[in-house]
Amino acid sequence: MKGILTVISGFSGSGKGTIIKELLSKYDYALSISATTRSPREGEIDGVHYHFLTQEDFENMIEKSELIEWAKYVDNYYGTPKAFVEKQLDEGKDVILEIEVQGGMLVKEKFPEALLIFVTPPSAEVLRERLVGRGTESEEVIDKRIAMAYTESDSMNNYDYIVVNDTLDEAVNNVHNIISMQHLRADKSGGIINNIQMQLEEMKRGIQNE
Ligand code: 5GP
Repeated sequence: MKGILTVISGFSGSGKGTIIKELLSKYDYALSISATTRSPREGEIDGVHYHFLTQEDFENMIEKSELIEWAKYVDNYYGTPKAFVEKQLDEGKDVILEIEVQGGMLVKEKFPEALLIFVTPPSAEVLRERLVGRGTESEEVIDKRIAMAYTESDSMNNYDYIVVNDTLDEAVNNVHNIISMQHLRADKSGGIINNIQMQLEEMKRGIQNE
């Protein structure tokens, strides 16, 4: 049985990164490592946080169709390498993509069975407070992030689930439960359906022969 492909998107400051970190520490998910042309931030390691590529290498990957999706976000390219995701899904692992909304829409087009989850803080006020609270961003950058969030909010309706990140534990549980429920969908349950049908057929034959 193939794994579930889950896209997790959310505003900058929504806490989606923290939710994903918790999910990975508690459960057996595979996180896709994106390719990007942006420079590493302090503490970021090539091959762990991102595959940091030159623009030329990134464009090469596009040309060779080695990316499931890619998008330009604030002057940099970001994309999801195909090989890793397909291998994990084939091995039955549930895969998480942490990507922005344009990429999320492209994944839905290519993989209609993918699960799309959008993480949001409970209110715009809380979002602003969280961005200010980080203490790493200037007022100007915060205003830009708020404007970006406003644009991104247009795509929220296209997601399958909205998870409000009010309490971290609750948000983590909600995301995990949503993904777990996908495994119970009828179209993912071919094995049990076939088995029970065969067993019922045999039983019915037995009854007729009595
Ligand atoms: P950051 O530069 O802050 O790490 O990421 C900026 C944005 O790019 C985030 O919203 C992140 O989710 C998104 N992103 C990261 N990897 C990918 C990817 O492979 N594809 C797309 N479409 N977006 C990505």
